[in-house]
Amino acid sequence: MVPKSMLAARLYAPGDIRVERVPVPQIGEGEVLIRVVAAGICGSDPSRAMATGAYSYPITIGHEFAGEVALTGPGVTNVSEGDRVTAIPLIPCGSCTYCRSGQYNLCDHYDYIGSRTDGAFAEYVKTRAENVLRLPDTVDFETAATTDPAAVALHSIRKARVSVGDTVAVLGTGPIGLFTVQWAKIAGAIMVVAVDIYDEKLEIARQLGADLCINARNQDPVEVVNQVTRGKGINRVIETAGVPQTQRQGCLIASKLGSVVFCGISHAGLDLSEVAVDRVMRREISVIGSWNSGDVTVPHEDDWRTTLHFMGEGRVVARPFITHREPLSEVPRVFDEIWNHHVVHGKVLFLPQQV
Ligand SMILES: [Zn+2]
Ligand SMILES: [Zn+2]
Repeated sequence: MVPKSMLAARLYAPGDIRVERVPVPQIGEGEVLIRVVAAGICGSDPSRAMATGAYSYPITIGHEFAGEVALTGPGVTNVSEGDRVTAIPLIPCGSCTYCRSGQYNLCDHYDYIGSRTDGAFAEYVKTRAENVLRLPDTVDFETAATTDPAAVALHSIRKARVSVGDTVAVLGTGPIGLFTVQWAKIAGAIMVVAVDIYDEKLEIARQLGADLCINARNQDPVEVVNQVTRGKGINRVIETAGVPQTQRQGCLIASKLGSVVFCGISHAGLDLSEVAVDRVMRREISVIGSWNSGDVTVPHEDDWRTTLHFMGEGRVVARPFITHREPLSEVPRVFDEIWNHHVVHGKVLFLPQQV
């Protein structure tokens, strides 16, 4: 039985998050109500909730989640009550040029769970059925709640065109970076270099397959890469930290005809030295953007289904870097600690069914 009201973490203004009782969302035609079992903090959530804000207020935040189907609206055929599921947070318009070619992440008029419409830091969330995907039996809810960042990482690997025999560098080993390390191995990289400023994160990168881990606080990644590759550089560089230093390092360590993918959201401008700009030009390096994750219709580009497949086989994992599990009541405190006190964390999950 679905209750009438539920707990939800609502954003009233940047920095003003309140956990309160609200009505359980009503579903209509083609919609699904999901009982949220696990919901993660995205790298984009702290700045949204604490500084830049959402599109309307109050809004229930959170867009990375997994749970069980509680109710289905009329016309829903792809899932039924009790199914274990996750959902793509981006709701495309379906009619713009990019939607018509299946490139939903580039939609001109999208809606988005947790920033434009009510999200998943709540006991229940509703969304449209087309966005809901059933989980393989072997994928637990906590892992499934990280499908979004894992799919974002896969998208960046595809944008970088990583293929068998490539060398890959992953700059930043937050959850997206740690998924990128795993995808690079699956895609056939012969050497994966991971760069971060925290030894704890680099140690996990090593466990997940990184061959060379560089703590940029102790060593200059550009010098180390130069030595290890005898000046040739790295074929495919994926920047997930979203900071000017790593964007610059990326341009300095890429090989001739190499590529640098910007995947991390940066709230700063580019800061490239004369040497870095010169290198991009002389080495004919491609600097490529990667945004969100792709496509539910085009099989080759289907980041979400591919991610669930590899999670189901146990070849893409999240548990080693899930560092926090908290009840919903702790949402305001956790955001305050991350934003104001810079607590070192991996993936932080809220477990809304836990009191
Ligand atoms: Zn996310
Ligand atoms: Zn569209």
